Amino acid sequence: MNVEEMLARLVAIDSVSARSNGAIIGFAAERAERLGMRVRLYPYKDERGVEKINMVATLGPTTDDEKVELAMVGHTDTVPYDATWTDALTLTESDGKLVGRGACDTKGFIAAALTAIEECGAERLARPLALVLTADEEVGCLGAKRLAEMRPFEARYSIVGEPTGLQPIRAGKGYCLAEVLVRGREGHSAYPALGASAIFRAARLITHLERIAEMLKAERREEFDPPFTTINVGIVQGGTAKNIIAGECRFTLEWRPVPGQKASRLLDLLRTSVEDERSRDADFDCEIKVLRIDEGMETPASSPLVRMLEEATARSAGTISFGTEAPEMQRLGADAVVLGPGDIRVAHRTGEFVPLKDLRQCVRILARAIEHFCML
Ligand SMILES: [Zn+2]
Repeated sequence: MNVEEMLARLVAIDSVSARSNGAIIGFAAERAERLGMRVRLYPYKDERGVEKINMVATLGPTTDDEKVELAMVGHTDTVPYDATWTDALTLTESDGKLVGRGACDTKGFIAAALTAIEECGAERLARPLALVLTADEEVGCLGAKRLAEMRPFEARYSIVGEPTGLQPIRAGKGYCLAEVLVRGREGHSAYPALGASAIFRAARLITHLERIAEMLKAERREEFDPPFTTINVGIVQGGTAKNIIAGECRFTLEWRPVPGQKASRLLDLLRTSVEDERSRDADFDCEIKVLRIDEGMETPASSPLVRMLEEATARSAGTISFGTEAPEMQRLGADAVVLGPGDIRVAHRTGEFVPLKDLRQCVRILARAIEHFCML
């Protein structure tokens, strides 16, 4: 089976995040076993009770502590597709582009990894290789987070498949989200002294956040665009009527920390601001609910993995501002680099595609990586 056929088989299996990924894991596990890999499955139930499975397949000499030299990681789930895209699960080629849901994000990488392993040949491995397939990446990297907690293996190097146009990516901003609820006291708007406006209080806190955002601009990382941690208050909701003093106001707070800066730094600054408000307004009542904390990730430019991939792609390593499973691979001990065929700007869209040329090139790059790290 060549890489296009492999991709066509993967695309044909519907693996939208809301469904079980059991079928696509079943297919991949069977392929991996045929390549002589030892397959371990880690099933779990998602929050709606749907079975999801992470798969770790290894090849080459085993060690007691399950340490692998190179782990290639791809997520099996895709974002949903529009009902009008009737060909979403049929890989079609036009103009050198392979079109289908997941072709770019991230089944192209998985097809390339399986093909590269097949081409290299198991008998030649001197150090262990892993193929790691995860669930629920598109809904918060939940599968990879589970693996990072369970630690079924450790890796020295990891290539995380995401569409980067085959540019090696060695650093990425984190992603964090919180919901802030500010409470006041309702009352007739003609008598402000009888109540306390939650909206005025929230506005004061948001003004603090604007100041904090300015302050964080000084902690620069020039290789990012923009070169600092960004903050966004995306939704503000509060109050019930024009003539009622607002009793509650809530807003979302999203921030994308540059690597090296703790994701919790912004929360510390926010809590200091809340204390500051409380010192002037003893009733200032505020609850911060943290919904997501994904740290930024960074692998040094001097890492052998970065150097090898820069050479194999003839491109220097860059940075990205979208989240990936790379931080979880770092938690498993790895120098992680994100790399895969296709363009992130066409991912998640109707008509998502991967260029056939990129897909084939990815097979060669991964085969070189396997030779470089796992063979004598
Ligand atoms: Zn992806």
